[in-house]
Amino acid sequence: MTSVREVHLKSRPVGMPSHENFEIKTVELRDPGPGEVQVKNLWMTVDPYMRGRMNDVKSYAPPYALGEPMHGGAVGQVTASGDPNFKEGELVLSQLGWREGFTASAQGLQKLDPRGLPPQAFLGAAGMPGLTAYAGLLRIAALKEGDVVFVSGAAGAVGSMVCQIAKAKGHRVIGSAGGAEKVAFLKEIGVDHAIDYKAEKDLTAAILAGAPEGIDVYFDNVGGDHLEAALNAAKLFARFAICGMISIYNATEPQPGPRNMALLIGKNIRMEGFIVSHHFDMMPKYIDELSGWARDGRVKWRETVFEGIEKAPDAFLGLFKGENLGKMLVRLG
Ligand code: NDP
Repeated sequence: MTSVREVHLKSRPVGMPSHENFEIKTVELRDPGPGEVQVKNLWMTVDPYMRGRMNDVKSYAPPYALGEPMHGGAVGQVTASGDPNFKEGELVLSQLGWREGFTASAQGLQKLDPRGLPPQAFLGAAGMPGLTAYAGLLRIAALKEGDVVFVSGAAGAVGSMVCQIAKAKGHRVIGSAGGAEKVAFLKEIGVDHAIDYKAEKDLTAAILAGAPEGIDVYFDNVGGDHLEAALNAAKLFARFAICGMISIYNATEPQPGPRNMALLIGKNIRMEGFIVSHHFDMMPKYIDELSGWARDGRVKWRETVFEGIEKAPDAFLGLFKGENLGKMLVRLG
């Protein structure tokens, strides 16, 4: 493998990104020097946070550089090694996705111990999105016995894990997603009350139909009307884990907050945002619990797979059109 294709950021989007913003380039890989490895990527992930990195603004993750390859999680196989700790054929997790392969320092790579899980699971349920669900529910929302949980974006990578972790821990779960197929999937994974938000005129009423006394925990992946409805449906002392607000990622103007923020006061609601990278200490405990749940069938996951690096932009754009059920992935191998 000496020649690979990479996806570069060609221009910065204004509003919804399009194919114009991406360019596929072929590059030659050098042989690995001392301390370096050459890796053939088998899978790469596309995630909503990458939209923020296409903008030239300071945030918790630096912006992608124009004319340079984009990056993000990938699972690959070592094809040549100049580092005695990495052998040919070993699986590694890197942040050098959006390309078919690379030669780079071995230092930024993590060896994969698949523990019987498929390697791409480490980009989804057993990786960053799964840990986001776990940390958001257990640490940020401080889930406790008897809590009724509402999750938006419930059929996606993070949301579907939130639903199942809450179910595995014995909670009543209300999930919201777009369309009949996603509602059917939510029922299949044990969600007690599944809402097709695209077919609902009154989201507050739809939540209360599944939780007549209100919700104790809201796991927000969407923001906007979902956050407003969750505030309306919240019980006293509810906790809101603010994980994402995908409904405004492509907005071209600053968006107004929920009109009913004052409910935070009277209902004594605690609302807290978080970024998963501050909670990586929970990963070993999470993987232990996940392995058990996966073994006994309490947790399962779906993937929506696009084939080939040339389809990576389509997969990414599909996130904002709701084209994925479960984790959106690109297979490169
Ligand atoms: P998903 O797998 O959930 O994919 C995105 C989904 O969002 C789509 O399938 C679609 O589902 C929904 N969506 C897209 N546009 C809209 C819209 N305008 N209004 C409502 N729903 C919309 O992505 P992830 O699971 O990877 O991420 C979910 C959320 O979690 C995102 O907001 C992401 O930014 C956030 N996140 C935050 C992290 C953190 O550390 N805080 C870490 C990882 C993710 P549907 O068809 O149901 O509309």
